[in-house]
Amino acid sequence: MKREKKKIGLTTKILLGLVIGFIFGCGLYFVPSGFLKDTLMVDGLLYLMGEVFLRAIKMLVVPLVFVSIVNGAANIGDIKKLGRIGGRTLSFYIVTTAIAISLALGMASIIDPGQNFDLSAAVETEVEIGESLPLVDVLLDMVPENPIAAMTNGNMLQIIVFALLIGVALSALGKKTKYVTDLFAQLNELMMKIVGYVMLLAPIGVFALISRTFASEGLGAIGPLIKYFGTVILVLIMHAFLTYGSILKLFTGLNITTFIRKFFPAISVGFSTASSSGTLPVSLEVAEKNLGISKNVSSFTLPLGATINMDGTAIMQGVATIFIAQVYGIELTFSQLLTVIITATLASIGTAGVPGVGLIMLSMVLQSINIPVEGIGLIMGIDRLLDMTRTAVNIVGDSVCTLIVAKKEGEFDESKFRQKENNFNGVAASNLDYQ
Ligand code: ASP
Repeated sequence: MKREKKKIGLTTKILLGLVIGFIFGCGLYFVPSGFLKDTLMVDGLLYLMGEVFLRAIKMLVVPLVFVSIVNGAANIGDIKKLGRIGGRTLSFYIVTTAIAISLALGMASIIDPGQNFDLSAAVETEVEIGESLPLVDVLLDMVPENPIAAMTNGNMLQIIVFALLIGVALSALGKKTKYVTDLFAQLNELMMKIVGYVMLLAPIGVFALISRTFASEGLGAIGPLIKYFGTVILVLIMHAFLTYGSILKLFTGLNITTFIRKFFPAISVGFSTASSSGTLPVSLEVAEKNLGISKNVSSFTLPLGATINMDGTAIMQGVATIFIAQVYGIELTFSQLLTVIITATLASIGTAGVPGVGLIMLSMVLQSINIPVEGIGLIMGIDRLLDMTRTAVNIVGDSVCTLIVAKKEGEFDESKFRQKENNFNGVAASNLDYQ
């Protein structure tokens, strides 16, 4: 059989980084603590390599979100269309989150992860209780008093609102502000080019982040909490394949497996960084290049999703609530479960797309039904691994909704989605590379 010599694509390289990082990290876990393991590797080389990559993508988030939303809104032009896209996106985000949390509560009630759990073995950990964010505050907080401060603080919702206004105004002004509109279009190109450069670091960055996590956490910590851990992972997988799989099929006729394969570069970055916001630059580019979603839609819906749509986080919160309730021997009533669905959906809106925040927001869910918040201490130790997985689900949710909305608006190029080769970063990667 004749086979052309193939260049290894970026996607394959990232996958290799992930797998090698996992093996290397697990190996390093067993090396006794000391200069070699801690100073040289974990807090030295691995930290440096991972942190450079992380900082490089974080550096892009604020300018990219701002520029891409202004550009997207200016291009959509028609304010009615923008409203329609916004309405559909919000409905999708809220409905899928409510499904996610219901699925989590249902499965956790069947599996009973906290039954027969010996509370005496549990560590007493001081838990930092998150400020609960009533809906009024969430809404009020969307309007920036000072847009520059919003940018320096990385307040995504405020940046989104400000950028939307500029975009809408630019399109209303039309020819009068043509140069400014063109400038934003060019700035957008510029940002995407830089994302491409940063992504060249991804395989090494992913390797370092994953090995560092496993070198310090190992898999041993999961031991006593295996049932809780397994339930969260199971529901995350079910939600990704069943919920997203069926809505994707229903609304677009497309297959979730292909979707996940094509979206893989973003998923791997989400997994290794545990930050939806941090992954945004990559999600935006992969959505356009590999999934065929027009920037007009994704530039607006993906930043919004990375900020308010956290299905994976809601799933963890649902399972954790049942787990903690069972550990404390509390029987939950139907109305308490309903309260959990509502508060977890709101908590997911208020959760920032950065590592670990989901766990802090869990305190708001527990408080809403009077379950001891200290219970969070039980699951803290293994949260990092779950955080990585739920972040991957969070960003898949954002992009599935985005694709559906884009298709409805005629802003989806199906031929790109169906292409065998990935176009991400201009590096061709055969689908077979990572099967
Ligand atoms: N790390 C998650 C995210 O960025 C949020 C969380 O659940 O902590 O999507």
